[in-house]
Amino acid sequence: MTAAFKAIVAEEAKKPAVLKELTPDDLPEGDVLVDVRYSTLNYKDGLAVAAKSPICKSFPMVCGIDLAGVVAESDNPDFPPGTEVIVNGFGLSEKYWGGYSQRQRLRSEWLLKRPEGFTLKETMAIGTAGYTAMLCVMALERHDVTPDKGPVVVTGAGGGVGSVATAVLAKLGYEVIAVTGRAEIHDYLKGLGAASVMDRATLAGDPKPLGREQWAGAVDSVGSKTLANLLSQTRYGGCVAACGLAGGIDLPVTVFPFILRSVTLAGVDSVMAPMDLRRQAWDRLARDLPREKLLDIVTEEPLERVPELANDILAGRVRGRIVIRVADR
Ligand code: NDP
Repeated sequence: MTAAFKAIVAEEAKKPAVLKELTPDDLPEGDVLVDVRYSTLNYKDGLAVAAKSPICKSFPMVCGIDLAGVVAESDNPDFPPGTEVIVNGFGLSEKYWGGYSQRQRLRSEWLLKRPEGFTLKETMAIGTAGYTAMLCVMALERHDVTPDKGPVVVTGAGGGVGSVATAVLAKLGYEVIAVTGRAEIHDYLKGLGAASVMDRATLAGDPKPLGREQWAGAVDSVGSKTLANLLSQTRYGGCVAACGLAGGIDLPVTVFPFILRSVTLAGVDSVMAPMDLRRQAWDRLARDLPREKLLDIVTEEPLERVPELANDILAGRVRGRIVIRVADR
């Protein structure tokens, strides 16, 4: 393909990204050229595209922290032309051009061959949000939060991380308390396997230094008072996996949950997670994310709609996951 192709480009700071045409000569350096088929919309993509947070560190920047596609040209024999690959994170849409482009040139060290058990489209139905949900579940497991220890809470349950975490934890046999601010999605969350649904206001008040012990663990994509309340109400020896900031970046806690109840706060980052951990997470998703639930979670949208959808995800109007169809075919 030598012709122009479409991309969503942030041209300067504090200005929302727009659909543009690029040519192959515009692309950055890298040892593989990928024909991008699908990307996805994560909360961070919303922040970058709508220019609501300084995600993009240089300009012009092609947005999109995830991509799935087929290698078109390669200097790395491990990824010959025709190989189906995905990229999650690694600074795409921050320092490096990302997945909202019909073609992208990348460093092969960021590539993962399409995980077995998924189509390219399904990998983007999961995307960074879903793979991060699995990293959170694995963090709970590493800290011995097993289904017999008691219920687990998932906050931001209607979002991408929350929906996947709810479905996976329920499949693994945990009693999941799904926390949402949207009354209209209670049935959706129960359909994903939540045993009960809690209004997000319950966790939004000023946290006590130590609350009544209620759950064995939690997956939190909200932060701020929500995360503080989760920690103060976690049972002795429990663990909260924190990955998000949808409710704020502060954390008004005391040390009591840690020093009196041995509660662990496990931080989860997907962007620079090592390859081995990524492979494990994708293997686990193939095993533990029920296929039919993935279909319930996902909707598909064209590349052109990304600017509009970015505002929707920031306003909390997106349910589950959105796959972005990048290529026309
Ligand atoms: P979504 O927008 O899909 O989900 C976020 C959900 O959080 C919303 O659907 C909503 O759920 C809830 N929410 C939104 N605003 C508030 C608020 N003010 N107070 C309480 N709850 C709120 O985003 P993602 O699932 O893609 O990402 C979730 C978070 O995780 C983001 O902060 C994102 O940046 C972070 N993240 C971090 C990663 C990492 O590597 N650490 C990787 C991926 C995501 P509901 O309507 O059900 O209440």
